[in-house]
Amino acid sequence: MNAADGEVVELLQALVRARSDNPPGDERRAAGVVRDYLAQEEAISVEDVGLLPERPLLVARLEGRPGGRTITFNGHLDTVPAGNDWTRDPFGGETEGDRLYGRGSSDMKGGIAGFLAAIRRLAAVRDNWAGTVIAHVVPDEEPGGPVGTESLLKRGMMEGDAVIVAEPSELAVFRAQKGTIFATLRFVGRAAHGSRPEQGVNAIDAAADMIVTLRERLAPELRHRMHELIGSASINVGTISGGTRTNVVPDACTVTIDRRLVPAERLEDATAELEQLIDGRAELVWDHRSPAFETAADHWLVTEAQKAVAAVRGSAPPVSGLRGASDAWLYAQGAGIPTILIGPGEVDQAHIADESASVSLLRESVDVYYELARRLLPPGSGLGEGA
Ligand SMILES: [Zn+2]
Repeated sequence: MNAADGEVVELLQALVRARSDNPPGDERRAAGVVRDYLAQEEAISVEDVGLLPERPLLVARLEGRPGGRTITFNGHLDTVPAGNDWTRDPFGGETEGDRLYGRGSSDMKGGIAGFLAAIRRLAAVRDNWAGTVIAHVVPDEEPGGPVGTESLLKRGMMEGDAVIVAEPSELAVFRAQKGTIFATLRFVGRAAHGSRPEQGVNAIDAAADMIVTLRERLAPELRHRMHELIGSASINVGTISGGTRTNVVPDACTVTIDRRLVPAERLEDATAELEQLIDGRAELVWDHRSPAFETAADHWLVTEAQKAVAAVRGSAPPVSGLRGASDAWLYAQGAGIPTILIGPGEVDQAHIADESASVSLLRESVDVYYELARRLLPPGSGLGEGA
């Protein structure tokens, strides 16, 4: 184990120990760990552009030779709360064998530790590459909240020719991600005594009819909208609540739905499709909408990432996609910047009790991010070539 290996493990341990549960949402301690780590390298500037004091959003910047591309790494510091059923300290950062335990170890403080260590390594050789490396270390990703990456998009602060989001992928290259629509449907009826249902309008019956409509008319169609990497589009009824008493005709019922999109579907079309099916039978509130995205299989960002992983690990990585949600769409669709996801964490470890990360993947991620940056920022692309 060389010094850099120990460094990234210690950095992840420090990040895990710096609790950043969301809710409630306070990433100050974890951001402090990042700042302290990067402060050791004079060439790296760090600015907090967060919208709230307790929600720091760090933008780190490192310049190589003039010219060249700009690449941006993204990682979120917030984690879901630890919850129960842990057999380890969720904020201890203890290691055993190849595993490092703690909330956020896989999702996704490990990815952040990996690219920060790579950026420090790049700083040490910054005469040997051309361009700019940026890191966005953000709060508020877990709920898809407004003070994280989205605030960079809204303020026009996204930059770069390529974005690498360090969400868990076990160092596979993810080049696609599903889109999401969360919506609330409110059915309004008219109350009446339960012994005379004909005098009322049953809101639960209306909701039940709608659920059948979604299941029979929409769900089968969505199963045919397939993507080769991330599977099919879908709809799921997540919650239902309504009624007050057994002997009262319910005058209200609320249903929430979760619609997932594949890259071939446009958000506006999926929205219109739902509106058409619901057809005014319920009051409709859009709780969250984000598009799917896909970066082409032959895009240089994808092919160079595959080569970088192959160079480090000795074999080409799987190319896949993320079925869940992440901030990556804000860069890919929001700002139109080619984006991939690659990180040392494991999707299966995210949000579970006894969450852990592989120490060997964590170490390899530093080499992968470094190798990828060197490939994307060749010295010949800047001024001073041949110097
Ligand atoms: Zn995550």
